[in-house]
Amino acid sequence: MELKELYQEIILDHAKNPRNKGKCEGYNHDAKAHNPLCGDKVHIFLNLDQDKNIKELSFEGEGCAISLASASILTDTLKGKDLSFTKKIISDFLKMLTHKTKITINSLSDDQITTINSLSGVQEFPMRIKCATMAWHTVLSALNEKVDNYGQLKR
Ligand code: ZN
Repeated sequence: MELKELYQEIILDHAKNPRNKGKCEGYNHDAKAHNPLCGDKVHIFLNLDQDKNIKELSFEGEGCAISLASASILTDTLKGKDLSFTKKIISDFLKMLTHKTKITINSLSDDQITTINSLSGVQEFPMRIKCATMAWHTVLSALNEKVDNYGQLKR
């Protein structure tokens, strides 16, 4: 199977059967976003400890396959992760889409990296980049963290 087809299959699978959909138990932070260009909406729910490590997270949303798959993949990737991992992977992900760089985190399995990379196809379609990045920016805003246009985190 060609990589492109594999990526398409992963996206469709996540879009049709989103992981971690609904409100997660004991959520204590949340944030919403809306992409008017495409009509996508996402609402992220997080159960954070006092150091902003993610105990649980989930999402509710509607929109195109890319936006739903992206939110689903995001929740799978960040569940149970600490703040420094979360910031690094979000930064890597945003840079991958806007600057075509690679995911550099070595604590992820090959399967996880393949899953995240499945969204890299939107690099060629600037109008769709927002569909793929919206949920990830929404987690940052729920965590009260920011990134610049290069995906670099700032305080
Ligand atoms: Zn969209």
